[in-house]
Amino acid sequence: MRIDFITIFPNMFAPFLAEGVIARGVKQGLLEIRVWDLRDYASDRHRSTDDEAYGGGPGMVMLGEPVFRCVEAIRAGVILSPVEGEGPPADARVTLESGGPSPSAGLRMTEPHIVMTSPQGRRFDQRVATELRNKDHVVFLCGRYEGFDHRVHEALQPDEISIGDFVVSGGELPAMLMADAMGRLIPGVVGNTGSVEEDSFFRGLLDYPHYTRPEELRGRRVPDILLSGHHENIRKWRKEQALRATLEKRPDLLETAELHGNLDDEAREILRRLGKF
Ligand code: SAH
Repeated sequence: MRIDFITIFPNMFAPFLAEGVIARGVKQGLLEIRVWDLRDYASDRHRSTDDEAYGGGPGMVMLGEPVFRCVEAIRAGVILSPVEGEGPPADARVTLESGGPSPSAGLRMTEPHIVMTSPQGRRFDQRVATELRNKDHVVFLCGRYEGFDHRVHEALQPDEISIGDFVVSGGELPAMLMADAMGRLIPGVVGNTGSVEEDSFFRGLLDYPHYTRPEELRGRRVPDILLSGHHENIRKWRKEQALRATLEKRPDLLETAELHGNLDDEAREILRRLGKF
């Protein structure tokens, strides 16, 4: 998949792209990342990207025109994606700019999914991460100051997404955070797919506790069962621990898991034993 960021602080992305999950995805050819400097799309020689608010007030507002121009530039060089079952594999995407194959059988234009980072958006969570990860191309708009001129919302009708009920000073960290959560859901990006599937929230539950060497750490021992080598007992123990953690820390998740049919008979039996249901 491809992820683009539109920002006035492109340098903030350098460390994020240099190491970790995202860097690995790019190296493996599973992920294509572009960072666009909004100032390159400004209309004046000062490369302005913000101005005072109509009606007065303290904060500056991000100009609409540079955003429109940048999004148009992205669309103009839009990726060609193979139609299911034809052409190159789904993740071997080719860009027009890089002189890839011309539009032909098996390739069609894809419209990027535009996400506006905003505290007013729908709340980001694992479900939204999965939803975005299933898109071919996501473009993040990173705001600053008071956010974007409202006509950007009207014209682009972006998918407004928030990382929580608090305000940070720019959309760069929220966008990187969302991209990280999406990137690790791309099969092959995180070395061990199984570890992603057992993470908190993947099945609507919290993760079970993890232990590593040594067997005894400052007087605290690793639970015997984990040293037993008995895989079935370990599996059951972990499931119970995951259910216990969820029941104690996030009981609301259990209600949702039950609602979505994510609790099997074994899970319900364990919960009954723990006094739930
Ligand atoms: N005046 C705006 C806040 C602007 S904060 C309001 O109250 O709605 C500046 C920028 O930071 C926003 O445009 C957005 O890109 C980003 N931002 C701030 N808090 C965020 C959050 N909780 N989730 C996602 N993006 C956020």
